[in-house]
Amino acid sequence: MSAETSLPRRWRVRVTENCAGCGTCVMTAHRYFHLVDGYSQARNSEIEPDDAVIAAAELCPMTAIEVVDADTGAEVTPTP
Ligand code: SF4
Repeated sequence: MSAETSLPRRWRVRVTENCAGCGTCVMTAHRYFHLVDGYSQARNSEIEPDDAVIAAAELCPMTAIEVVDADTGAEVTPTP
């Protein structure tokens, strides 16, 4: 029996005050973002890693989506 010993890491997701409310992240990753009063919010602050969140962060015109490793705090999204 082959055992995968690497535990799934968790990511911490946050939308900063730079959000302009364009809705791109909601369309790209609606499971993780929603608009509240015209601005995006992460539905959950900690998530299982998912490429859709990275895609949303990369597409955000305001670079307002921060994704970090929940354990180490290391940035997951590329810095602009
Ligand atoms: S893509 Fe960026 S600017 Fe647009 S709603 Fe999402 S976080 Fe805000």
